[in-house]
Amino acid sequence: MSLLRTALEHTKTAVVLGHMNPDGDCVGSCLAVYNYVRDCFPQVEITVCLDRPAEKFSYLNGFDQIRTEVPEGLQADLCICLDSGDRDRLGDFLPLLERAGKSLCVDHHITNTRYGDENVLEPDASSTCEVLWGLMEEEQISKATAECLYTGIVHDTGVFQYSNTSVKTMEIAGKLLGKGIDFSTIIADSFYRKTYVQNQILGRALLESILFCDGQCIFSVLRKKDMDFYGVTNKDMDGIVEQLRSTDGVECAIFLYEKEFQEYKVSLRSKKKVDVSRVAAYFGGGGHVRAAGCTMNGRIHDVVNNLSTQIAKQLEE
Ligand code: 5GP
Ligand code: MN
Repeated sequence: MSLLRTALEHTKTAVVLGHMNPDGDCVGSCLAVYNYVRDCFPQVEITVCLDRPAEKFSYLNGFDQIRTEVPEGLQADLCICLDSGDRDRLGDFLPLLERAGKSLCVDHHITNTRYGDENVLEPDASSTCEVLWGLMEEEQISKATAECLYTGIVHDTGVFQYSNTSVKTMEIAGKLLGKGIDFSTIIADSFYRKTYVQNQILGRALLESILFCDGQCIFSVLRKKDMDFYGVTNKDMDGIVEQLRSTDGVECAIFLYEKEFQEYKVSLRSKKKVDVSRVAAYFGGGGHVRAAGCTMNGRIHDVVNNLSTQIAKQLEE
């Protein structure tokens, strides 16, 4: 029996948490567990708590049930933490983990700190949704759960493009298609579709990007005043750093946006050589070998200099 089933067996109340600024794999994995538990353990009272996810994920069943603030007095028997490499990534919802009777952490980040009572960690898995597939009985996965799992896999693999895609990933995706999901619409609407302003800031980030390290690195930044001008938020940044990485000759891409004055959210991507999880971890963040992130403070010039020093070390190795 999987750790998920064992954990749910003697549980009356469960809370599901993901990381701050949730991406497709985070929303997909949280709602996959929500739907699976509703279907298979109807006696369990389950609550999903997340920062408000982007509207493009609103087709997922349970999206409108997501609690975006800490529910008063909620003390769950079981806390399931998904797609979050460390406790701090749970943001405002961390107290729900601390208050819970026991915890189960399911993740695929190589930098995961094993902060759950039980941990299911698969750094080679494409996505947390892929790890979850292994914890669920195939015949118990409903179409609604399949839509969630498929969304997570699609987003974390860049529609099966990134190097984290494996034979197993494709086999699972195939089985999810067998559940009758509308995969074309999921990919078109949640991954490729952009609003007008999202395309505008993508264009702006590309236009203002700078190549360095003999064209092996590329960097771009969006300042708060520009984000305010276009009326965009952190939810509108998906895909920018990947577009930067696709530049011919580039090994490593850095994209920053300003969260507060001189506080930057850093996204790092690489193609073949640089282990960006090491770079992000050095600055207090984490992630995967080819996709990682952290938050850094100071002047842009200094932030980029500090990052490029760490990246250059690896390029020289
Ligand atoms: P993104 O650049 O899309 O925000 O994140 C890339 C990957 O790095 C994701 O898997 C994400 O969970 C992880 N990541 C991003 N920012 C942080 C951070 O500040 N801390 C940690 N531990 N992981 C992060
Ligand atoms: Mn993920």
